[in-house]
Amino acid sequence: MIDGRSKYFVFVPFCLLAQAYQAQGLVKYEWKSSIKPFVNLLIDNDINIVQMPCAESSYSNLVREPMGLKKYDTEEFNRHCEILADKVAREIKQIVDSNYKIIAILGIEQSPSCCVNYIYTNHGNEKRKGIFMQKLSDKIKDYNIPIIGINRKYINKSLKELELLIKEINR
Ligand code: SF4
Repeated sequence: MIDGRSKYFVFVPFCLLAQAYQAQGLVKYEWKSSIKPFVNLLIDNDINIVQMPCAESSYSNLVREPMGLKKYDTEEFNRHCEILADKVAREIKQIVDSNYKIIAILGIEQSPSCCVNYIYTNHGNEKRKGIFMQKLSDKIKDYNIPIIGINRKYINKSLKELELLIKEINR
């Protein structure tokens, strides 16, 4: 049977496609909805985009004030993230088991839930993953999928990393 589908995937944070899910006051850059350079790159290369759930809006409200890591790091929010991470890890397993390829997972730096490398705390930047991202990366560590953190203020580094991974598959 002829079937033209792409077998390549990138998992993205919910707000990469819909920045209105960010806490109030955080959408400061030139993209008002999707973070276009990433979305355009994925669409131009025919990569399936899988939107991961937004841990914070699904826990509290769509319209909410930004809260630091300390406020989110509760037993209840950890349990919430555990359930979401389980669901995403199952989707990832299904894709890998189907012999499709996940090129990368993207996160948002500074987010208490979705950061990959660093988060801002009362004592400055702390090197760690966000609560959701840590749980997800623990569950899928055997798959060795690159996880890239987007600094929305300076996107070039993470955009380049993703471009390089895409170049590999297009070789
Ligand atoms: S929790 Fe994650 S998906 Fe939701 S707004 Fe924050 S960074 Fe985006």
